[in-house]
Amino acid sequence: MIQRAFEEDFSGLSACFTGRAAGDRPKWGILKPGRPERGEFRLYMPVQKHTGRVLKVTGKTPEREVADAVVTSERGLLLGVRVADCVPILLFDPDTPAVGAVHAGWRGTALVILRTAINRMVSEFNSVPERIHIAIGPSIRGCCYNVGPEVVESLSGTVSGHQGWMTTRGGVPHIDLAAVNRLQALEAGVVGRHIRVVPECTFCRHETYFSYRKEGPGAGRQAAFIGLNHGPLGAKGG
Ligand SMILES: [Zn+2]
Repeated sequence: MIQRAFEEDFSGLSACFTGRAAGDRPKWGILKPGRPERGEFRLYMPVQKHTGRVLKVTGKTPEREVADAVVTSERGLLLGVRVADCVPILLFDPDTPAVGAVHAGWRGTALVILRTAINRMVSEFNSVPERIHIAIGPSIRGCCYNVGPEVVESLSGTVSGHQGWMTTRGGVPHIDLAAVNRLQALEAGVVGRHIRVVPECTFCRHETYFSYRKEGPGAGRQAAFIGLNHGPLGAKGG
């Protein structure tokens, strides 16, 4: 399954979330060139290490750089992150234009990597947070993500309050990383109507999505991809 990331039809933008049916890394080669929309893309995926590092990617950026978020304003670059339960987040500034892809597990979320990526788009591309659109892809949600108190503590400082992202069931805290990241985006100035959260939980829906918690270290990875097509934004059929 490959689903479009944004509900709006942004011509000139390619952005999607994959699932189990799109396969793991070896099969993603089908995405270049010509997928998910027509156009020659160079695929760029950073080496993810649960850091808070945001990398600005250009046509000259070497492969295999360590980062957990990537941003670019160059056309023809398809940015990707890979996840299984962690939160994939795509960013789009239609004005510059510029795009970003973020991998946010609990460590990255505690390191406010999404906010760092937004700030990087502001400093590098003069993006305005109120104009940035964000799509938060399928991830393990509060229904299934039970964690230790140290995780709750590390996330608490990143947003005001626990409302909407933390519940306690059977004495065990459960957290919703997608909700934490949404709050972080709001606090960074992104407006609510520009934030889409895919509701599905990867653990509940493990027949559709890879889930690390469900399958263990051997779990495959789904991906989130975003790129500016070569054609100008606004051009039909881009
Ligand atoms: Zn669930």
